[in-house]
Amino acid sequence: MVKMGETTQEKVFTQMPDEERLPYYREALADCIDCGGCKLACPVCSCGDDAKCTLFHNLGDNYKMSMFHLVRLLHLSDSCIGCGQCTDVCPVDIPITRIQMSFSIPVQTRLNYKPGMNADEKPPFFEVMIQ
Ligand code: SF4
Ligand code: SF4
Repeated sequence: MVKMGETTQEKVFTQMPDEERLPYYREALADCIDCGGCKLACPVCSCGDDAKCTLFHNLGDNYKMSMFHLVRLLHLSDSCIGCGQCTDVCPVDIPITRIQMSFSIPVQTRLNYKPGMNADEKPPFFEVMIQ
């Protein structure tokens, strides 16, 4: 089952060269309306009232790739399980799961960590984030 998941992940979340990532993120996030739905739907988002990403959305600014997303990309890099719920709820059809996984897969590979495999295990960055 784990092998099947890995094979599917490789097919669905093809990796891109580092130099192509920033232009891809900018273009893919250009239509974001900062509704926050992707955060609300995420099953591994765990900061609660202390969330840093929410400091940066709903500000009415015109940044095309907001700090909200940058903070989330970092916070979820070790813990995103690629469930697809953030993409499902996005009202403007941003492929937020693909964006997050393009960031998370290299991080999780380097950490040699697979989130979602053990409910009792905290992601490697968890303790760092809450300090
Ligand atoms: S794909 Fe990742 S970021 Fe999106 S809702 Fe699932 S766990 Fe959260
Ligand atoms: S759900 Fe879509 S529109 Fe709303 S904040 Fe997330 S990416 Fe932006």
